[in-house]
Amino acid sequence: MLNLLILKDNKNFPVQIVMAQQLRSICLVMGIRKLQNTIKHKVMVSGVGLHSGKTIHCTLHPATENHGIVFVRSDLASKPKIPAHASNVVRTQMCTTLGVEGAMISTVEHLMAALAGLEIDNVLIEVDGPELPILDGSSQMFVDAILKAGLKSNHAPKKYLRLKKKITVRNGDKWMVAEPSNSFSITGGIEFNHTLIGKQTFAFSENQNFQSEVASARTFGFIREVEVLHKNGFALGASLDNAVVLDEATVLNPDGLRFTDEFVRHKVLDAIGDLALLGMQIKADISIHKSGHDLHVELARKILENPANYEIVEYVGTPVHINTEEETADLPLVAVGAY
Ligand SMILES: [Zn+2]
Repeated sequence: MLNLLILKDNKNFPVQIVMAQQLRSICLVMGIRKLQNTIKHKVMVSGVGLHSGKTIHCTLHPATENHGIVFVRSDLASKPKIPAHASNVVRTQMCTTLGVEGAMISTVEHLMAALAGLEIDNVLIEVDGPELPILDGSSQMFVDAILKAGLKSNHAPKKYLRLKKKITVRNGDKWMVAEPSNSFSITGGIEFNHTLIGKQTFAFSENQNFQSEVASARTFGFIREVEVLHKNGFALGASLDNAVVLDEATVLNPDGLRFTDEFVRHKVLDAIGDLALLGMQIKADISIHKSGHDLHVELARKILENPANYEIVEYVGTPVHINTEEETADLPLVAVGAY
């Protein structure tokens, strides 16, 4: 039996959800129809790996509907595939690392953010090393490469994970909260005891432009930490070309900052990239405070661990009024696999 649920409209389109009560993950959202996307042509991006210091080649290939985002370690004999999913995160120290049966790929977050920001659902990513190139420390060059390859529709409905319950994760004074919503927004907050950073907040929503507001915000670090990082085998490829670097009072990069609040914008970029590991775009209002990859991934896993926390929805076309079971009978109800 189908049951009709009317939710409030906060994005200028009616949000009427037909829920199949017995099948938790199937919903059709009457609104602007969106389809899954891939890229038109393969495209290669090369550059130094931030942590290994080695040159890495990364090739994005078009993929079919429902393929998802999948990494392949092309330098390993068995060419293992590593799906970009929160369940495959094996490390969150300094970056987000995915791994399957011992094969790992690190620093996926900036490419994942670029794919999420451009609404790419399906792509196969061959990488010939243990991490993605850091490029300029932001998502900008990934965005440029994807746009150069061109976007292509998969002609299949795009899936969204719509949060049903408030989910919170916390570690000391760091926290992250996701609240149910019919759209996506994220508000980031950071606090650093540095004259150029201090307290910063930045809000981004799906109505804003990822490319102009978020994509070019670079990762950042403090020069005093570089030596410690090097001793621990991190940031061997770090330079002023791939990060904002600060001393006690100033930015050392000759061209300065891209935004006065570039630091918090990059934190939002990281969170968008890590939340893309949910396997689809989330509909929720997200707030993050001093969080990092560990909390981003913990939140994604906490959402996914209980199917009652979310539902998977698909937009099915031009808004229409639905008020009886009979009128909904011909709608193309699509079964969506469990996550
Ligand atoms: Zn980052």
